[in-house]
Amino acid sequence: MFGLIGHLTSLEHAKSVAQSLGYPEYAEQDLDFWCSAPPQIVDHFKVTSATGQTIEGKYVESCFLPEMLANRRIKAATRKILNAMAHAQKNGINITALGGFSSIIFENFKLDQMKRVRNLDLDFKKFTTGNTHTAYVICKQVEEAAPGHGIDLANATVAVCGATGDIGSAVCRWLTARTGVKELLLVARNQERLNNLQAELKFGRVVPLDEALPQADVVVWVASMPKGMEVDLTTLKQPCLMVDGGYPKNIDVTFKHPGIHVLKGGIVEHVLDIDWHIMNIVNMDVPGRQLFACFAESMLLEFEKLHTNFSWGRNQITLEKMDLIGEASRRHGFRPLLT
Ligand code: NDP
Repeated sequence: MFGLIGHLTSLEHAKSVAQSLGYPEYAEQDLDFWCSAPPQIVDHFKVTSATGQTIEGKYVESCFLPEMLANRRIKAATRKILNAMAHAQKNGINITALGGFSSIIFENFKLDQMKRVRNLDLDFKKFTTGNTHTAYVICKQVEEAAPGHGIDLANATVAVCGATGDIGSAVCRWLTARTGVKELLLVARNQERLNNLQAELKFGRVVPLDEALPQADVVVWVASMPKGMEVDLTTLKQPCLMVDGGYPKNIDVTFKHPGIHVLKGGIVEHVLDIDWHIMNIVNMDVPGRQLFACFAESMLLEFEKLHTNFSWGRNQITLEKMDLIGEASRRHGFRPLLT
């Protein structure tokens, strides 16, 4: 059995989902209600691999909402993640992906030091961030989509916004060692971490976002968009490919312009239909087949009987692990989204 821990993108989103699922009493509730709501298993489904193997999974709604961070309800936010993990473990799930902000909260608030949740000791081996598969899929999206938009990667400048993050640093390693792009622009806020990454890669330039954007043929977004950012779209290259790896996906609103192509990053499509409801809720274009790559990672680990925290900690994703999960991804019928 594999599991997925997810959350909705905003209070407004939570209210509309509650309404559409037939819980109008929840739809009227404010943030306080969601702060005290316990985790729920809201979907139970089967997934069949391209090899014919079938596995079972459960989706755990953590009831975390991003507004909890914005409104300094940090204790509530961290409790949501720990409680959802405990709920997954108590329900006998072998390997569970921490989707959306779950793994970021886990790392940023050092939840590994809070193993005990009421009468249960969390076994971290039963969880994965899913970031190795996400990074692999984003790299494949860059490699496979760029030529279709007239971008030759051997002569291209690629900017990675969120370069020092867990996914961003893995993407930078792959683009440097495997893809062989002409130039790599490293964008984030903390200079020391940027300098360390550049030293590790022995490649790439540290550049502020406003300087990176006009130079880039491809932009990989693996940080949340800075609020209130204004970009003069006429200064950007055309064609330009934007791969939006963040959650929620919000790049397309800012970069609506002819010649700029926005691709939903870190999304895979399965070759067979999955009979579940959750991808309707997060507005996937083809909800029966499309899903977040981090969720697919827990499916892959279950298919492969690799019941271990395959992606864990920060900035430890190696090319070898990306190869391993990429090979499993193809074998079990997952493809990177390309349109
Ligand atoms: P991390 O927290 O490890 O990294 C975030 C990165 O973004 C850091 O480099 C950080 O550096 C940078 N950053 C944050 N804010 C800004 C800003 N305002 N401007 C520029 N850089 C910024 O996150 P992950 O790598 O784990 O996740 C990245 C994104 O991917 C998230 O949005 C997450 O929700 C999404 N995701 C998508 C998945 C999928 O399946 N599609 C799966 C998992 C995650 P600094 O703080 O120095 O600026």
